[in-house]
Amino acid sequence: MLDQKVAELLNTQVNKEFYSAYLYLHFANFYTEQGLNGFANWYQIQAQEERDHALLFVKYLQNNDCPVVYEAIDKPTAELHDKMDPLAAGLRHEQYVTSLIHTIYEAAYEVRDFRTMQFLDWFVKEQGEEETNASDLVKKMELFGGDSKGLYMLDSELGGRTYSAPSLTL
Ligand code: MG
Repeated sequence: MLDQKVAELLNTQVNKEFYSAYLYLHFANFYTEQGLNGFANWYQIQAQEERDHALLFVKYLQNNDCPVVYEAIDKPTAELHDKMDPLAAGLRHEQYVTSLIHTIYEAAYEVRDFRTMQFLDWFVKEQGEEETNASDLVKKMELFGGDSKGLYMLDSELGGRTYSAPSLTL
């Protein structure tokens, strides 16, 4: 059995990952309304990835005979007015998720739960990539988003993103 605190944090993370999916669908809606379908595509795929993350936490808990409780998912709170707003909010959100993963890791470390630490290693790496991607998007928008041609090119680039399942399997 997992340590109670570790199990609780893992169960909370299920909700946090579903919230991330919800937040990114909120971003996708904003861009769809703006006619920026490439940006919308990027966030729809991001939402699929977040759902995958949630289900990885579910599977890990179940593999360890821990019951999974689905709590209510919060309404996305980010106020979106400008095309930069979702990108900046996305970066802040990923930095927050990184801190959550680190908190679970710390709890697992305290009780010498090496199995959970190994499971979380993938997420530690993944969060590094998520933060880099989110930060790159902010920089690209700063560089190219101010001009309609640049924005069109950026939207086309993000429209090319395709879904791929997470490399972690349980
Ligand atoms: Mg995630």
